[in-house]
Amino acid sequence: LVSRKKKPENTVVQIDGEAIGREKKTIIAGPCAVESFEQVEAVAIALKSQGLSIMRGGAFKPRTSPYDFQGLGFEGLKILRAVADKHDMKVVTEIVNPAHVEEALNYIDVIQIGARNMQNFELLKEVGSQKKPVLLKRGLSATIQEFIYAAEYIMSQGNGNIILCERGIRTYEKATRNTLDITAVPILKKETHLPVLVDVTHSTGRKDLLLPAAKAALAIEADGIMVEVHPDPAVALSDAMQQLNIPEFEHFMNSLKSSRLLA
Ligand code: PEP
Ligand code: MN
Repeated sequence: LVSRKKKPENTVVQIDGEAIGREKKTIIAGPCAVESFEQVEAVAIALKSQGLSIMRGGAFKPRTSPYDFQGLGFEGLKILRAVADKHDMKVVTEIVNPAHVEEALNYIDVIQIGARNMQNFELLKEVGSQKKPVLLKRGLSATIQEFIYAAEYIMSQGNGNIILCERGIRTYEKATRNTLDITAVPILKKETHLPVLVDVTHSTGRKDLLLPAAKAALAIEADGIMVEVHPDPAVALSDAMQQLNIPEFEHFMNSLKSSRLLA
């Protein structure tokens, strides 16, 4: 069902009036994790002033260590919704438990399936059987074929509103957090009819590479970018090393705008 052979024209995913997969590129930005109303609101204001309308932020954080911050859970979803409503924005957030999907739908606009859950088939079936758009991230060690099959799990339940997200894969290379598989973008766009984003934060894990990675992603015709922004990254409860602060985010956006790659 996700194959380009079944449907030659591009799928455009509508998020409450915002289209992903059209000529105009989509930038989704926001903190790694929701920490407080004030923190999310500071980011929302910065996003708005750059003309962005889709904000990310994790409330259920699937952390590698059980001793790391696990997120605020439903409290975090309520914060996202309150900030989004106040500033007329949409929210993307990760859900990790199939049993949380139904309740989460009251608060969010796009359900994110994280890399660690790309092959959580019960979760894929659950998000496939409801109507909200799903942002599906590539698994840490998933092949492109496995990634496409994960999307197929969602679509075969009836939900065709899927956005794919390349977020880097695990290789022997240690210079970056993961290895951004940049040619996955044109392969996914050739093999499927779905929009494809690139998460420059989790793929590179390096602030100095966010802008070049974003330019490469847009030049190779990704439909957009995901990037993490925090008002004070040094005190962030997760991913402190790789989130942009607000002036850095403004510089990132202005550089992309002047590169003309966002058109
Ligand atoms: C995230 O986007 O918050 C995240 C945890 O990313 P990933 O699932 O790609 O590691
Ligand atoms: Mn993160």
